[in-house]
Amino acid sequence: MNLGLENRVALVAAASKGLGFGVARALAADGARVSICSRTAKDVEAAGQALGDETGAEVMAMACDVTDPESINNWVTATVDRWGHIDALLVNAGGPPAGFIREISEAQWEAAFQLTLMSSIRMINAALPHMSRGSAILTVTSSSIREPIERLALSTVMRSGVMGLVKTLADELAGEGIRVNNLIPGRIDTDRVRQLDGITASRLGITPEEARERAMANIPLGRLGSIDDFGAAGAFLLSPAAAYITGASLRVDGGQMRSV
Ligand code: NAP
Repeated sequence: MNLGLENRVALVAAASKGLGFGVARALAADGARVSICSRTAKDVEAAGQALGDETGAEVMAMACDVTDPESINNWVTATVDRWGHIDALLVNAGGPPAGFIREISEAQWEAAFQLTLMSSIRMINAALPHMSRGSAILTVTSSSIREPIERLALSTVMRSGVMGLVKTLADELAGEGIRVNNLIPGRIDTDRVRQLDGITASRLGITPEEARERAMANIPLGRLGSIDDFGAAGAFLLSPAAAYITGASLRVDGGQMRSV
């Protein structure tokens, strides 16, 4: 299927590695012009170089911390200065820390609010003036918005807010022909998931490999997802091929979630 991504301009946040990198790679492989960001300049520049070398696509890479409004505006402005407009936006960021609710401080709630919810609002607000009919926005949340996960309260609470944002915005922007959707990763094999497996392992007194095996036992397809599995779903929802899909939430979880 031709996704119709050729020459389209895509902003992909938090993309020096992991889920963001997977989506950026899938978009670039289909001919999109891709602007990626993450906080660490040398990492995001190396990722941008690798994307360009591998796909031959035009790639921009910039340091940007999505918890900082000015940093977001600089990234969006630099992209629009180069390519004139935006067709696609992947809203993404690092994940908040794990912990039981009674262990979480007010400062941690506030930081998670800025990292997960406010960053989403700010990226969308910065990109929207440069988007027009046929453009698409895609957020990244977590299976915890449907089935809360032990010790991931910060993620669950803030990402539920992101889901409310997606459904509301999908209605508000439908008349302008701009689509808004959400992707739910189950367990995609990234540093973040390996880090969470390490925390689970030390809490249960098992090895990280055992923690990983136990998690995989609950995935009907029998393996963790790859960033390419995730990237393919992301590129589709951000592409013109998904022209009649808005307000939707797609699970990329190998069948892991039990809710219907
Ligand atoms: P990852 O492998 O740790 O990658 C995180 C990426 O985000 C890196 O490129 C990092 O680069 C960047 N980043 C972190 N904080 C940032 C910030 N404030 N501003 C800009 N960039 C930032 O994580 P991942 O697995 O791809 O996860 C991405 C998101 O999906 C996270 O919120 C995670 O909690 C969520 N999630 C993932 C899974 C999964 O299966 N992997 C499941 C559920 C939810 P720098 O360090 O250079 O900034």
